[in-house]
Amino acid sequence: MMAKQVLPLKLSSPEPYLSVIIPVYNEEENLEELAERLLHTLHNLSRPFEIIFVDDGSSDSSWETLICLYAGHPEHIRAIQFHRNFGQHQAVFAGLSAARGQIIITLDADLQNPPEEIPRLVAKIEEGYDAVGGWRENRRDSWLRRLPSYLVNRVMSWVTGVSLRDYGCMLRAYRREVVDSLNQCHESSSFIPALANLYARRVAEVPVAHAERERGQSKYSLFKLIRLNFDLMTGFSHFPIHVVGATGIAIAALGLGFGIFLFVRRLFVGPEVEGVFTLFAILFVFIGLNTLGLALIGEYVGRIYKEVRGRPRFVIRQTLGGDRESPSS
Ligand code: UDP
Ligand code: MG
Repeated sequence: MMAKQVLPLKLSSPEPYLSVIIPVYNEEENLEELAERLLHTLHNLSRPFEIIFVDDGSSDSSWETLICLYAGHPEHIRAIQFHRNFGQHQAVFAGLSAARGQIIITLDADLQNPPEEIPRLVAKIEEGYDAVGGWRENRRDSWLRRLPSYLVNRVMSWVTGVSLRDYGCMLRAYRREVVDSLNQCHESSSFIPALANLYARRVAEVPVAHAERERGQSKYSLFKLIRLNFDLMTGFSHFPIHVVGATGIAIAALGLGFGIFLFVRRLFVGPEVEGVFTLFAILFVFIGLNTLGLALIGEYVGRIYKEVRGRPRFVIRQTLGGDRESPSS
């Protein structure tokens, strides 16, 4: 499906009140239905709105579809194209910095969270909350996908002190002030729902529906998921380092106690000979711990290095709609 590149030049839409941000990575099968349902829902809300699609370097025809959608609704739809795949959260960051609305909503493109739930989030924000998250009441994902989420929710609730049922649900709404703070964060690996909680004073959750992914595949392989969860752990706490530190102290204390015991035993019973292999075992425990600790420190140092280099987190190739118009072809 090739689009004609006849793009409307002038925009005369009012300042949007709602901005909906959608990261898109190879979602060609879902975009048209998504746009249709979104436009319908948002029109019914009767507030000025904009929809910002961020194409995270798709290799299918997602961008062509977005051009078509933009051509059809230039007053409501904007699109940003990344040069290549920089990841879901970077795509959302790009959307956040382009958004002009007072209430900003993030939504996945795969229709697992129905766009029809947006009015409920908006209503909740208008009650006076700074950030409202959806939590997936009947989550339709495999247990392999749910188990890591469960662990992450537990740890994140504990670490951030904000107990949320569902950190992973990306159907969320934020107030302008929170997004302004998020826009000042320039970290190259992050997890937006948790980051937003650092800046939101009043946080609420509403149950939202969840459907199975009908078209296309999940963009998260097991490896990518592990990376994401690691980002979360190291990005928001020094929890892993503390655990390793505490374990280290405990083991050292036990080792010392054991040493004293062996010394006293030597005085009264004589030296132990058969215990050599026990010592080996203990040594291995120490070596293991050392390696683990070293790896963890390496992980943090690697991240510091990454931040210090300050490379651009994403590169935008083209933008359709909004203030920053630059389509040249
Ligand atoms: N996504 C993205 N870049 C990526 C991976 C995913 O923009 O590198 C988008 C994807 O198009 C979708 C959303 O992020 O809109 C969530 O992805 P997915 O549904 O595959 O994740 P899951 O629901 O399995 O967590
Ligand atoms: Mg999904």
